[in-house]
Amino acid sequence: MSNLTFGIIKPDAVRAGKQGQIISRILGAGFKIRGMKLIHQTRKQAEGFYAVHAAKGFFDELCDFMSSGPCVVMVLEKENAVPAWRELMGATNPAEAAENTIRKDFATSIGENAVHGSDSDENAAIEIAYFFSKLELV
Ligand code: ADP
Ligand code: MG
Repeated sequence: MSNLTFGIIKPDAVRAGKQGQIISRILGAGFKIRGMKLIHQTRKQAEGFYAVHAAKGFFDELCDFMSSGPCVVMVLEKENAVPAWRELMGATNPAEAAENTIRKDFATSIGENAVHGSDSDENAAIEIAYFFSKLELV
């Protein structure tokens, strides 16, 4: 298990001004923030990031949404970072997310679900490298 994962505070949560509360939960759960920046993804960047979902019916909607406004990309450090961050996020569908998870409290739908988290150490490394250079990690 690696101690790094990658997260995004998605455009819905940034539009709603929830980034401060979400960052506060991340720090409160014991993560260290190793990298963080506000970006506005192009449609092409979003398509590249979610290429694994290219065949899914929701792909176009997902890429439109992820390029619809600014988002916060983050590199998070904690022991067993990947499962720890997914647990704090909650289930993909907020209707199924556990109490006190970020998606339960801030997501509005299965598509606009406030946050992203890597699903494996291998994908965390790929996703970190997609948005951050080594020099940007402190
Ligand atoms: P997770 O973000 O929990 O890892 P997935 O990797 O399965 O979930 O899906 C990536 C993202 O695609 C989700 O976070 C959500 O924004 C969107 N998504 C997933 N399933 C659907 C769906 N059925 N309808 C619309 N958007 C979806
Ligand atoms: Mg996923």
